[in-house]
Amino acid sequence: MKKILITGAAGFLGSNLCKKLINDNYLICLDNFYTGSKENIKPFLNNSNFKFIKHDIITPIDIECDEIYNLACPASPIHYQKDPIYTLNCSIKGVENMLHLANKYNAKILQASTSEVYGNPLIHPQEEEYFGNVNPVGIRSCYDEGKRVAETMLFDNHRTKKTKIKIARIFNTYGLNMQKDDGRVISNFITQALLNKDITVYGDGSQTRSFCYCEDLIDGLIKLMNAPDSLNTPVNLGCDGEYTILDLAKIIIKKTNSKSKIIFKNLPSDDPVKRKPNLKKAKTFLNWQPITPLDIGLDYTINWFRRIIL
Ligand code: UDP
Repeated sequence: MKKILITGAAGFLGSNLCKKLINDNYLICLDNFYTGSKENIKPFLNNSNFKFIKHDIITPIDIECDEIYNLACPASPIHYQKDPIYTLNCSIKGVENMLHLANKYNAKILQASTSEVYGNPLIHPQEEEYFGNVNPVGIRSCYDEGKRVAETMLFDNHRTKKTKIKIARIFNTYGLNMQKDDGRVISNFITQALLNKDITVYGDGSQTRSFCYCEDLIDGLIKLMNAPDSLNTPVNLGCDGEYTILDLAKIIIKKTNSKSKIIFKNLPSDDPVKRKPNLKKAKTFLNWQPITPLDIGLDYTINWFRRIIL
């Protein structure tokens, strides 16, 4: 059985990854509950394939393992902007600590990177060769630049120490185990709609995003981890159906039969205008593409939120 280290295991993606891997692998899971929740890991606590250690990856730790999924980092804008220096350190000190383990135990490391490395992109859709348009001193840069440094650290370790690396550039993802107050658009809109509160569209709502259902994304991460060692270029994982935020608000109001009305609030600075992944690499090298249409994924997510907030 493989020994797999998962950081950020109590988070949204981490807990969904545990669910998928736990039957066939031994999981050593870390989280400091900065944004993750105990609820998310409750189903695994009595499973003999699951070991949990409350730990912040900024502090070194020694764990023998075959694979590392490094997902630990606050990921929603309100969370990662709350303590920007902490966010930077997750991507710098945290990644350094995980690379140390990868090198010590010759383990493969998959780094959760992000579409934010493209910043406010000037090309559309975004392909992995694009170097991005990131404001290095803006309010998003603690996350964007942190993740860019993380990618650099993986590559430099690969070049100098032959570390086995995988880099997933994760685009907007939604689904079960999101925090209802994490501030991201889908969790905000669904919570607001179910409670018949105003739906807060930032700006005029013409900015676009492409939303991937969490189970699809997790399948992509696992395929990337299991791809041949020679595949170490960053790979976009996400969905390429593109929606304006205003349209998303209308879809969610309709699906929830909500009485909410849409209100417009200030657009946060450096909010990307357009975002959609070019998925050619994932399709070609991983034989992966998302299969859950937004319509269906939203139904699953709305039902889940209904259970936890109503
Ligand atoms: N957004 C919004 N209302 C909200 C939350 C987010 O209009 O209540 C917008 C946000 O400004 C951005 C998009 O929705 O343009 C996606 O935001 P999110 O925080 O989910 O992810 P991002 O892609 O910005 O990291």
